[in-house]
Amino acid sequence: MSRLVMKFGGTSVANVERIRNVARHVKREVDAGREVAVVVSAMSGKTNELVAWCKEAAPLYDQREYDAVVASGEQVTAGLLAIALQEIGVPARSWLGWQAPIYTNDTHGSARIESIEGAGIIEGFKRGEVAVVAGFQGVHKDSGRITTLGRGGSDTSAVAIAAAIHADRCDIYTDVDGVYTTDPRVVPKARRMDRVAFEEMLEMASLGAKVLQVRSVEVAMVHGVRTYVRSSFDDPANPGEGTLICNEEDIVEAQVVTGIAFSRDEAQITLRNVADKPGVAAAVFMPLSEAGINVDMIVQVVSEKGTTDMTFTVGSADYERAFAILDKIKAEIGFQSMAGEKEVAKISAIGIGMRSHAGVAACAFRALAEKGVNIRAITTSEIKFSVLIDEAYTELAVRTLHSLYGLDAA
Ligand code: ADP
Ligand code: ASP
Ligand code: MG
Repeated sequence: MSRLVMKFGGTSVANVERIRNVARHVKREVDAGREVAVVVSAMSGKTNELVAWCKEAAPLYDQREYDAVVASGEQVTAGLLAIALQEIGVPARSWLGWQAPIYTNDTHGSARIESIEGAGIIEGFKRGEVAVVAGFQGVHKDSGRITTLGRGGSDTSAVAIAAAIHADRCDIYTDVDGVYTTDPRVVPKARRMDRVAFEEMLEMASLGAKVLQVRSVEVAMVHGVRTYVRSSFDDPANPGEGTLICNEEDIVEAQVVTGIAFSRDEAQITLRNVADKPGVAAAVFMPLSEAGINVDMIVQVVSEKGTTDMTFTVGSADYERAFAILDKIKAEIGFQSMAGEKEVAKISAIGIGMRSHAGVAACAFRALAEKGVNIRAITTSEIKFSVLIDEAYTELAVRTLHSLYGLDAA
């Protein structure tokens, strides 16, 4: 008997009518004789509301209680979907993270799954029951406290459950019918891909394409979970195939650039007249890393008269904290002044074909210059390059690169 995990995101379960529609998708698979575990997100907007309430209650809230609060959104939709399934004659029960159980570490707010006990869910299958699992949440075994997996974490719940119960595939249902060459809401000419390689999907997700949480792609890749992205808005009787995330060898037509990703959640910090001597970079970046702040692009100019300027980016959510940390140790590091900019965006081009092609990034620099887009910083690696620009030019830059690399739909 084949076994399937189906995941439905926030917009797919936004109200009871949509939850009924999800139930119809699930019934189709059950009627086809499959054992089904469904993973649900909170209703769209719900998690944002819960997060805002925590911040309103206290700016520096207890992360463990934050998890207790934000995990509640998924509890509601799991119960509602089980009810909707029962209503159309499909036996079902809900499973919360601690009931499955889905064990995680204790990094509250962005916990990582350590193991999943799938036996209870499988027992349920034997009774002919659909398992409706609350996404995004788990439990820390030693403390017994509820944890959450970071924003977008239901994708990871789904793929990890698929690995744990040895499902034949994991279908991630969302509000678009697959993975596109870039966000179809920003570029109407974006094209849906039938397949995308794990490595490319990893880069796209980590560079801002929020269609899948990065961690879910890692888990799918490591455990070889056959994962599809498809639409919950398709007719439940006749859904589209969606996009398969697969190994590089399974890509038929390789392109130099496969996709363009962008992120507006970036902030730039510049330190001026930093002493140019050994140990300075460590003095700047160690305290940030100790505070759990990720630094991304780093640019240092050639020094003149023994000092240099250093520019780098952090996530915009970490900007104020990073600024405060550096300000405190200004004398110790020895720089003259510090400037910051939050209205910046990072645009990236991704493609496995870049490994074997030279000059891919250079064309982009020229094309952006022709549109009058100034580049603040650049980073490159084997299968991607990124440029940091003024946020106001985000859409122009994404569209420019999308057509430059021949990705526009006919
Ligand atoms: P869900 O609530 O189902 O988890 P998300 O909002 O997290 O859905 O992810 C789906 C959204 O991702 C789409 O609505 C789309 O705007 C956005 N997106 C960004 N980049 C891409 C891309 N390359 N392909 C498809 N969707 C993308
Ligand atoms: N509800 C959570 C969020 O909005 C998890 C998810 O939807 O994947 O981040
Ligand atoms: Mg999502």
